[in-house]
Amino acid sequence: MRIGYGFDSHEFRTGIPLKIGGIELPHSKGLGGHSDGDVLLHAITDALLGAIAAPDIGALFPPSDPKWKGADSVIFLREALDRVRVAGYRLANIDASLILAAPKIGPHTAAIRKRVAELLGVPGDCVGLKAKTPEGLNLENAAIAHVVVLLEKTRTRKKRTRAKKKSRRSR
Ligand SMILES: [Zn+2]
Repeated sequence: MRIGYGFDSHEFRTGIPLKIGGIELPHSKGLGGHSDGDVLLHAITDALLGAIAAPDIGALFPPSDPKWKGADSVIFLREALDRVRVAGYRLANIDASLILAAPKIGPHTAAIRKRVAELLGVPGDCVGLKAKTPEGLNLENAAIAHVVVLLEKTRTRKKRTRAKKKSRRSR
């Protein structure tokens, strides 16, 4: 088994949509910065990449590259999931904490969990999601996400051995 941890934070800005966990939430501000600013998907992506000791989201998708400006963060998550698969693991479960003053996440928790589970290809009960307000942190204009993931080894060794043999034969 492998464990992975991801952290991300973004600043709220007016005039952009708020995306958290792959869905758009009704709010007067969105999260600025890298891509569409989806703080939760970024933290999940980094947790998955970290679990297999792969380069992090910033290394794979540099914020300085205009290609990723406004990009859908699902792209990053899919790349991380693909790397997890190639490394011979599958996701067992994830647990996430969101920290933000507004909007209230409670009414959207079920929808976010459902979407994240869909994106990750795991049952809904494998996605933990808590939302907290930044009590005493003086971080009213930021959204923060902490995520841990657990990966289980899959049986890809067989496949790899076969592929190796094949390439040896073709040589
Ligand atoms: Zn981010």
